[in-house]
Amino acid sequence: MSTGNPGNAGRRSRVAPTPVNEGLALRVEGVHKAFGKLEVLRGIDLDVSDHAVVCLIGASGSGKSTLLRCINLLEPIQAGRIIVGGVEITARNVDLNAIRRRIGIVFQSFNLFPHMSVLENVTLAPRKALKQSRGEADAHATVLLERFGLADKRDEYPDRLSGGQQQRVAIARALVGEPVIILGDEPTGNLDTRTSEEIMVMFQELHAEGKTVVMVTHEEDIANHAQRVVRFRDGHIVSDQPVENCTNARKALAALPVEEEE
Ligand code: ADP
Ligand code: MG
Repeated sequence: MSTGNPGNAGRRSRVAPTPVNEGLALRVEGVHKAFGKLEVLRGIDLDVSDHAVVCLIGASGSGKSTLLRCINLLEPIQAGRIIVGGVEITARNVDLNAIRRRIGIVFQSFNLFPHMSVLENVTLAPRKALKQSRGEADAHATVLLERFGLADKRDEYPDRLSGGQQQRVAIARALVGEPVIILGDEPTGNLDTRTSEEIMVMFQELHAEGKTVVMVTHEEDIANHAQRVVRFRDGHIVSDQPVENCTNARKALAALPVEEEE
């Protein structure tokens, strides 16, 4: 996984956070993010209730991945704030390890460390950031790997695994801190249809267990699993539509303004 800069670097100071409504898993408030002169997020506001499933869609380059990376504190923001479970995670002097525990992230390209075994990939963060002993971290990782049908792969290296297996390892790694929010950045983007469905079932199960899911996707059928579809364009949110129920998601998507070809 990328190690970027801590999210509380390089931001302007600000006053104490105002109280946040209960029941909100995530609040993104006026977030601006630029890479040099390139403004990538131009004032993003997004509330996600506890136990929601929200899909983020929009053309390539519209800022979706950057927003997820900001929420996971892999990128610092220039303005605004991000609040997770009532705690402003973009405040100064926050406990980065505690925050990262609350948020798991899964990427399109899996982002496993190629020189580490499956077990080492899953136990790295608990051992380094949470200071768990090897025995404790291994025991917890083993439970997750068994759950995802990977028990016999624990000593393999990522290049010996299929894409679907690598993504299951990445999901196990994302879950190891027992996060309340799971972020997915096109988690099925590199997988065939059948494997994508398996991975989506895993996300549905995580949601059924009470996790809040925020997922970037380009694919309409995957947005079918969402309760809300949020569309990005050029660093802005241009629509935010509730989906009455999962079966209506396709209709809701069809009703959205047509995105120009990428
Ligand atoms: P999306 O996920 O919607 O395709 P991204 O968030 O990946 O879009 O990228 C938004 C814009 O930010 C793009 O123009 C991209 O080139 C730029 N960008 C993303 N990451 C970086 C970075 N680390 N440095 C410079 N530019 C970046
Ligand atoms: Mg992206």
